[in-house]
Amino acid sequence: KSSPDAAPQRLPFSTVTSEDLDFFRKLLPGRAITDQDVVESSNVDWLKSVRGSSEVLLRPQTTDEVSQILRYCNGRNLAVNPQGGNTGLVGGSVPVYDEIILSTSLMNNIMNFDNISGILTCQAGCVLENLSLYLEDRDYIMPLDLGAKGSCQIGGNVATNAGGLRLLRYGSLHGTVLGLEVVLADGRVLDCLATLRKDNTGYDLKQLFIGSEGTLGVITAVSILCPRKPKSVNVVFLGCETFEQLLKTFQLCRGMLGEILSAYEFLDSECMKLLNTHLKLPNPISECPFYIVIETSGSDSSHDSQKLHNFLEEAMTATLVTDGTVATEDSKIKALWSMRERITEALTHDGFVYKYDISLPVERIYQLVTDMREHLRGRAKRVVGYGHVGDGNLHLNITSPAKDPALLAAIEPFVYEWTSRFQGSISAEHGLGLKKRNYIYYSKPSQAVALMGGLKAMLDPNGILNPYKTLPDKLK
Ligand code: FAD
Repeated sequence: KSSPDAAPQRLPFSTVTSEDLDFFRKLLPGRAITDQDVVESSNVDWLKSVRGSSEVLLRPQTTDEVSQILRYCNGRNLAVNPQGGNTGLVGGSVPVYDEIILSTSLMNNIMNFDNISGILTCQAGCVLENLSLYLEDRDYIMPLDLGAKGSCQIGGNVATNAGGLRLLRYGSLHGTVLGLEVVLADGRVLDCLATLRKDNTGYDLKQLFIGSEGTLGVITAVSILCPRKPKSVNVVFLGCETFEQLLKTFQLCRGMLGEILSAYEFLDSECMKLLNTHLKLPNPISECPFYIVIETSGSDSSHDSQKLHNFLEEAMTATLVTDGTVATEDSKIKALWSMRERITEALTHDGFVYKYDISLPVERIYQLVTDMREHLRGRAKRVVGYGHVGDGNLHLNITSPAKDPALLAAIEPFVYEWTSRFQGSISAEHGLGLKKRNYIYYSKPSQAVALMGGLKAMLDPNGILNPYKTLPDKLK
């Protein structure tokens, strides 16, 4: 029943009784779900790699309902698993044992949008893509975008501190989130839903919950600063022979495109094979060892095209890139972006996937892929690399026909030791969840982890919120 990822023993939480169900059904008429066919999909993660055995799925609509649920669960010592769109990739979004699943899916109201400041305030369960569509009608965009946008929710994005495709331009959620409303484990509502860009009155508590993966509180509402919709967007898909050339192209591009550069992403030829084979997406250019997706966003199309033209000419003349194509209209832009956005999906068709999300000094990121290939010497089906070059973030994925403990033992701790040697982070943007919690010490000193444990104990003394996740089983 327990997770394959070596979850610790079930902690001594209570189990749900018929009296508990009576309470939930009265509080949430028709929204306290025990039908196992419905609960099942919330017990399994997006990758289908982790499965819990919860029998209860709660769907509150208001902050007050979340507060009442948590107050009750805290009093009864019932464990709770907050869940957004369930697209998380580290096993944090589903229960490990029988934790009650608290889904924010019905908390999907937009509360306010200020057309002058660009500040959006909404409930945590709003789906990212719906927010993007809402804003586009008003000439704004969300400051983040990711391949899971059709399902992930803004509360889940904040809880995982999701990075994604626009971080290079608009920065992380630690900068764009202006306020949060959070329900604490004992049901207290922490109203830090400010809409101010500047506010230095004491500690900035909302930052604690950004990236806390549901272990410190349930985020119920978010206010976020949104940029204006760019008037001109171009996407370029380029091919190059070596990773060194790809980095030189990045340097050139930063210098020549400057303020209009909004994304610089890469994929290797193994990713291209996955896209061709599993999703039938054809390569838009000739075959190359590396591919680059560059996006520019600006306010003057002739100015942007001129800059882009000059950059491409220079990159070709310096033989940094060997082939390429440019898109200015929407459908082609989407088609080129899907070559990058749909790799995660293509991987799931290739077999069992071991996923690593590593941050490193940018000049090192591909060396990990080549070293891993060498280290595994044909034991894996495929070792692929892609990611956010602009942020020094590599997605290293290793596939095998089926789950393979011997292969896993060859990958870990090798991958973590390698990352630690170069002062990297073992989780750049996906978080730790269930799967990576015990590797935290490769990236954080024991004093920092002990302080995290202290914060958890203060905010959630009974440990009911998302147990077995984020923090290691043993504090050093
Ligand atoms: P869930 O998966 O439901 O939950 C994730 C974690 O947050 C869990 O620990 C959960 O307990 C907690 N949580 C959820 N909602 C709340 C809440 N309201 N309050 C407190 N805790 C909560 N990530 C990136 O950073 N960049 C990417 O580019 C990226 N691309 C992706 C592409 C694909 C195809 C997929 C499937 C995933 C991708 N991800 C990416 C992973 C990313 O973490 C999630 O997609 C997203 O941020 C999680 O949102 P969610 O609503 O699905 O949360």
